[in-house]
Amino acid sequence: MIGEASHRQDTLCRLLALAARLEDEGQYNIAKLLRAAADAITRRGARQLATSAASEALAVEVAQAADRLVGFGLEEGLVEAFRRGATALAEGRIPLIDETPHPHVCRTCGHVVMGEVTEQCPTCGARPGAFQRFMPNYWFDALEPLALLETLRRTPDEVDALLAGLSEDAMNCPPEDGGWAVRNVVTHLRDAQQVFAYRVDLFLAEEHPLLEMKAVWTWAAREEEHPPTVAEIFAAYRVSRGDTLAKLEAMPLTFWWRTGWHQEFGAVTLRQQASYFAAHELTHLPQIEQLRQ
Ligand SMILES: [Zn+2]
Repeated sequence: MIGEASHRQDTLCRLLALAARLEDEGQYNIAKLLRAAADAITRRGARQLATSAASEALAVEVAQAADRLVGFGLEEGLVEAFRRGATALAEGRIPLIDETPHPHVCRTCGHVVMGEVTEQCPTCGARPGAFQRFMPNYWFDALEPLALLETLRRTPDEVDALLAGLSEDAMNCPPEDGGWAVRNVVTHLRDAQQVFAYRVDLFLAEEHPLLEMKAVWTWAAREEEHPPTVAEIFAAYRVSRGDTLAKLEAMPLTFWWRTGWHQEFGAVTLRQQASYFAAHELTHLPQIEQLRQ
């Protein structure tokens, strides 16, 4: 297993070294193949490694990873952010943007800067624009305004099709692994849509809204005194989405680039916030597909 891991690591370094060399030669189309291969190999390797499920154990793993980073000579700012992340995990909370700023890695030499890059790379002289920013996930930049509106309009139809023919009993029945029932997924989509609707209103009303962090995924398991049916929850989701779409279509185009301050993610534009919600929803559709079977 260790031999396999070190062979993989060696292959990855060679692929990336070759990609950088090809980019120097202007051979970007071949370099992209190597970078894609390196990414695919890394993800497949990572899926084979077992990680802890409990957050206490995860906190220990993150702290240990911070110690290993020191051995690689990585910048102190990144190591310290790791440690603050481990502390937050151990306390059962999500670290905020000032504790864990977005890291920027110099594409030429690998130098790491935490937060916005304002100066040339101190190691190789690369300009700030040459750094790669690492966002919490790809959702922020998944979609551009027109594709966004289209996706936001289409997803409720896709959910509707996935729910077709399922009885209320079936949708309320939790899976054997103790995970979410269809009911929880639909509730989660509605809750996320309502947070999105609230944020769109803030962006429309203010130039620089403050976007409070919401632990939306914890709401889906809460029950009310007179719980609505799944059909009613879905209807509320669809109506709220229709209202939001009408507002987004009516606003001036420049509003897509209004920037708010998100407590967890830092500066985000309305486009990024909408892209986040649109892409996030799609990740829950396979969950309903699996529950259908
Ligand atoms: Zn550099």
